[in-house]
Amino acid sequence: MHVSRPITVGFISLGCAKNLVDSEIIATGLTAAGFRLAPAPKCADVVIVNTCAFVRDAKAESIDAVLEACAWKQRGRCRAVLVAGCLPQRYRREIQSLLPEVDAFIGLDELNQAGMVIRRVLRGEQSVAVIAPRAQAVLEPSGNRLLFTGAPYAYVKIAEGCNHTCAFCAIPQIRGRYRSRPIHRIMAEAEDLLSHGIRELNLIAQDTTSYGLDLGARTNLPTLLRALGRIGGGFWIRVLYGHPAHVTAALIDAMGAVEQVCHYLDLPIQHSEAAILRAMRRPSTAERLRRMFGHIRAALPGVTLRTTCLVGFPSETERQFRNLLAFLGEIRFDHVAVFTYSKEENTPAARLPCPVPTAEAERRKQCLMLRQKRIVDEVAMAQIGRSDDLLVERYDRKRRLWVARSRGQAPDVDGVVYVSAPADGLMPGALIRGRYVAAAGYDLRAVIQ
Ligand code: SF4
Repeated sequence: MHVSRPITVGFISLGCAKNLVDSEIIATGLTAAGFRLAPAPKCADVVIVNTCAFVRDAKAESIDAVLEACAWKQRGRCRAVLVAGCLPQRYRREIQSLLPEVDAFIGLDELNQAGMVIRRVLRGEQSVAVIAPRAQAVLEPSGNRLLFTGAPYAYVKIAEGCNHTCAFCAIPQIRGRYRSRPIHRIMAEAEDLLSHGIRELNLIAQDTTSYGLDLGARTNLPTLLRALGRIGGGFWIRVLYGHPAHVTAALIDAMGAVEQVCHYLDLPIQHSEAAILRAMRRPSTAERLRRMFGHIRAALPGVTLRTTCLVGFPSETERQFRNLLAFLGEIRFDHVAVFTYSKEENTPAARLPCPVPTAEAERRKQCLMLRQKRIVDEVAMAQIGRSDDLLVERYDRKRRLWVARSRGQAPDVDGVVYVSAPADGLMPGALIRGRYVAAAGYDLRAVIQ
């Protein structure tokens, strides 16, 4: 009797955590449909590259990954390459001619059709494309979602799309209008994740602080946080990807009141200069931002603040850049990510005069990162001797140390805490109390208390 072996699928998930959640949902659907996940993309029958198309570098990285996967069709076991997510969504009209070596393209609203697309391709159809003109759906995870984080934390997407019109950003064109997931679905997902050993829920969206604005007056991020807190138990909730324009007193109150919510806010300011912020279509001023961060710090003492800055935006002068540096030195964010401006077609900023040369934008980025590193070192030194709650993630065999994080460290983007303990002395998912004994780079060392 001939028994056919299951088709194996490998993933290359690029870009942000929102894309990672999409990849996890696709993988969960595929395994339910009888496909098997390959241990590594290179040894899979079918490779799915879930792409990012936010800025120039992200697009280049996506295309490199696609071409590498296509090369495995000549030299390896791979029979088909599917390209999913933001890149085919953004370049829907031209993507098939741009990447003729790819077997199929899947848009954002069609991600849950991956199984059907694989079968079409393996039956011999060529250059399949299923991409709706506009992304409008929200991909809902089924129960028991597979996780690619490999650690006791998960990302929970609470909304899709973005209604902001930041002049430099192509995301609203790609991901569509903002649409929140109903609160009961988020709660069900959270309960499922927690029942499977997850100890940290990282809430994500293009803008988490806009959550619920499209659902009526009674649903918003504070109500969601309070509802999640009522699940009860020892776990953390972290709010990532906020927007300074939507930080309300009710949000800060809920963060203070719900024990599980980390006193951590990720609020990209992009710049501090009013003229640049106006040109970016993110109207604010240094004074308004200063006041907002002051309120947050007064209400949540010891809060960790993360931000993102964009340097080299058209017309940014040296003086404006210096003012941004001074502002960052004044606020002293715990974590700062910095990007150089990337001219993106069909965005309002692409039409602006006075571009900043790429080399100059890069110099500003390096300068900002160097300044920020000094702040990071000072903040880390001030931690030594302090005690803190730590979530244990995994054992690092090379270092012979456990890897953990504090409430002030988001996964992937911030540092970690290395904890001295024997290999069999801790468990992933344990919440422990540690005392910081040293700092190194962006990381800290701790001993168990
Ligand atoms: S808030 Fe602005 S930068 Fe962020 S996704 Fe929306 S448009 Fe883009």
